[in-house]
Amino acid sequence: MANMRCDTEIKLSLVVPVFNEVKMIDLFVGKVSDELKRDPLINFEIVFVNDGSTDETLECLIKCQREDPRIKIVDLSRNFGKEAALTAGLQLASGEVVVPIDVDLQDPPELIHEMIARWRDGYEVVLGRRIDRNSDSLAKRTSANWFYRVHNKLANIRLPENVGDFRLMDRVVIEALKQLPESRRFMKGLFAWVGFRTTYIDYVRPERVAGSSKFNSWKLWNLALEGITSFSTVPLRIWTYIGLAISLTSFVFAVYVLFKILIYGVDVPGYASLMVAVTFLGGLQLIGIGVIGEYLGRTYIESKQRPVFLVRHIYEGLNNKWI
Ligand code: UDP
Ligand code: MG
Repeated sequence: MANMRCDTEIKLSLVVPVFNEVKMIDLFVGKVSDELKRDPLINFEIVFVNDGSTDETLECLIKCQREDPRIKIVDLSRNFGKEAALTAGLQLASGEVVVPIDVDLQDPPELIHEMIARWRDGYEVVLGRRIDRNSDSLAKRTSANWFYRVHNKLANIRLPENVGDFRLMDRVVIEALKQLPESRRFMKGLFAWVGFRTTYIDYVRPERVAGSSKFNSWKLWNLALEGITSFSTVPLRIWTYIGLAISLTSFVFAVYVLFKILIYGVDVPGYASLMVAVTFLGGLQLIGIGVIGEYLGRTYIESKQRPVFLVRHIYEGLNNKWI
């Protein structure tokens, strides 16, 4: 690689969005601190983003911060969703490398050492790629597969498959992400869009340690739509072609009907074929309008330029002094 980085001290920020995770916090902080303290060259901070939890998550975080000032807490004013919470965390992380990580220990912290090694080799992004998704249900695995397939066909950026938010990013990547102005943020897409020298490390994704998943099928479906409409306008354009194909067919049909009438005279009108044509075209038009509405809605929301998240309070901890 071009510019190898030397084995000097490194400032690492972990960014952890949390939403009703009171069962996980102590476990997570314990495991991560033990793991990171093994390498004396790592100075770290943990930026927790409390995404509007309704349980004791915030109290638990504050208690942890008293014991370890390397913890920084960003308390959002309500639940903004994981994408917004991640954005908040990335804004406030001050390390030279940043790793977003889930609190449920599904992203193994021991991999961070390997990620840092790759970073020292000169890479700016090190992705954690799941080689085995047996901890996910069959339905989730199949739908994820389909999502990547459809997305990568339609969008002009390629999403790496089986890669979540768990990754290491250099400061330059974080600064690039901060420049992206959109308020509807599909982080996987934005991560891929910014580019940079990227490599992978493979891992097996374990089960969630405690608590329950915050993503049901409906939320995942919406996230998938978000992803596709954020990075592709093919669903809009496709209607031009469908429309052309249908007009062409009906033109041919009209010519055929005309000749039929000229040759055989007026026929008894076909009720069934008429109904089929009317309902089919009606359905098609509604879908078309729906797709246009989806994009119009996005433009509308973006045009308001509302902030992605609102902060109630930041509990600084060390206040960017690194230990
Ligand atoms: N999360 C969040 N806001 C939300 C939903 C989830 O900050 O609205 C956090 C959650 O606390 C966890 C991470 O995002 O740290 C991943 O969530 P989860 O484990 O439920 O997702 P899954 O692993 O099932 O995809
Ligand atoms: Mg999880």
